[in-house]
Amino acid sequence: MNEMTDAAAGSLSFEQVLFERPAPKVARITLNRPQMKNAQGLQMTYDLNEAFDVAAHDDDISVIILAGAGSDFNAGHDLSGTETKELSDFRTVGTWGQFGAEGREGEYGREKEIYLEMTERWRNIPKPVIAQVQGKVISGGLMLVWLADLVVASDDSKFLDNTPDMGINGAEFFNHPYELGIRKAKEWLFMTEWISAEEAKRAGMVNRVVPPAELEATTLKMAARIAEKPLFTLKAIKESVNNAQDLMGRRENNKFTFALHHLLHSHFQHISGYPIAIDRLSPKIQERIRSSAKTQKAEE
Ligand code: ZN
Repeated sequence: MNEMTDAAAGSLSFEQVLFERPAPKVARITLNRPQMKNAQGLQMTYDLNEAFDVAAHDDDISVIILAGAGSDFNAGHDLSGTETKELSDFRTVGTWGQFGAEGREGEYGREKEIYLEMTERWRNIPKPVIAQVQGKVISGGLMLVWLADLVVASDDSKFLDNTPDMGINGAEFFNHPYELGIRKAKEWLFMTEWISAEEAKRAGMVNRVVPPAELEATTLKMAARIAEKPLFTLKAIKESVNNAQDLMGRRENNKFTFALHHLLHSHFQHISGYPIAIDRLSPKIQERIRSSAKTQKAEE
């Protein structure tokens, strides 16, 4: 699509994503929109999809690192309203369609394509994926962490799903109970609080916590060690563990939760005219939302 090839380095660059080969058999895909805290809009979504496909189809790559440029891994979905392209400008991966339909039909199809099924697609890439995480990770950003098999986080990283503050039951790819355990997932969503890298590690959501200066090297070292194994073996391990998680109901629960997610969007649309509960919130919650929205704004 928009990629340019640097033949000498074997790297590709997309509009909002970088693709490098930092070591033999290792690809590093970097969300590259640091001025927007890597907020994920349509361009980044389809750049990322293309980059994952390149890595998945390249027989010389065994492990994929997913990193974020700048101070924060990901501030979530791009809610800035500055996007100029439409969904129809991209080659969509699902077959649901009807993205422009009226009522909930269009929005349901849209979120199903770009959030639920796209994240599921990336989660199911058979090669090991390691998320290299620093700074803030908010709501939709969690989905980009959770699609990975391993998570290496710098000790300055922290995690928040603030969609319950907007009346919604959680980010669209609902891995919360599988990442944090049942009680912690409930506490985190009901309370809508940040959790630190260490807390996330204790809950099982993060594998290793390292000082920021060691984040890149630690991740690359792990990737290189994993890449020594036969790719077939790695794929079999990933499928075996992912299948165990799916037998715990992850995928079915995700579909169920996505339907409730859209019931809530519809409910708030019906009573307030917006798909999130903007004017139905307590002043305290409104202030919290304003301060987390600032996180996504450009750093001048
Ligand atoms: Zn939504």
